[in-house]
Amino acid sequence: MSSESRCSNSQMIEVACDLCSSTETRLLFEKEGFRHVRCKKCGLVYVNPRLKAHRDLQRISGTGSMGEDQISPAQINRICRELAIFGVYRRMNRILEIGAGRGWFLSVARDLGWKTWAVEINQDAISNLAHKGIKNIIVSSAEDFDAGRETFDAVRIWDVIEHLESPVQCLKRVYDSLRPGGFLRLSTTNFNSLSRIVNGSEWVYINGSDHIVLFDPATITKLLKSVGFLRISVRTRSFNLRKKLYHPEREIRDRFHPLALFRKLIDETARFSKLGHQMIVEAVKDV
Ligand SMILES: [Zn+2]
Repeated sequence: MSSESRCSNSQMIEVACDLCSSTETRLLFEKEGFRHVRCKKCGLVYVNPRLKAHRDLQRISGTGSMGEDQISPAQINRICRELAIFGVYRRMNRILEIGAGRGWFLSVARDLGWKTWAVEINQDAISNLAHKGIKNIIVSSAEDFDAGRETFDAVRIWDVIEHLESPVQCLKRVYDSLRPGGFLRLSTTNFNSLSRIVNGSEWVYINGSDHIVLFDPATITKLLKSVGFLRISVRTRSFNLRKKLYHPEREIRDRFHPLALFRKLIDETARFSKLGHQMIVEAVKDV
């Protein structure tokens, strides 16, 4: 660990690759004391070593309860459009969101007649969900939840898996909890995005105390295939030049970058490539 590390070695734990169990890695960079490595065998990028207390911290802090107190009619319309995608798979009328945060997605789903479930570990988020009248809150880590087999038509996981100690374990649970032919939709950041390539380790989403597994289109596809999902689709969107440090938290002022002149154009067109910084991933369980 570097001299600027905020953590002593006793607070950290060495881990193997979650995707392939290999311990062979190559150091990519270190940011604020957190080493970001790439698995030599499967290409997964992850933080190693990571905080021992990572999951405990998810319960009491982190980004689990982030989100707006109020959302606009335009945002509600966006959620309705997303729910139309889920609607194609509606048979048993049951939908689960893992890491439901402020609960806006599930609130709108409920208003449209879905029976809703949430898996949530963050104490503030659990309070928010209960306050919103969200039923069926499963208080558990995303890796350990038990909702029974073949319970849901659809599962949503939005900007959550990059926080998890084991995305593989979570996705196995999700797979078991979906009915045959059930639908998964998730979002996570794209390590191979133009935003990350331009910004390097200063990229806004590189936060080793919180984002501990960083996927790209190839590794997210490997993950879903390894669990058994079919019809996997990966799309990407958005480009920005935001840079950030987290300890203490502050934005890094942009030095001029020539791509800034084309930022809006690139943002509009990133969706036609695999280089956008947000990945939207869809997959289906075999019938
Ligand atoms: Zn690996």
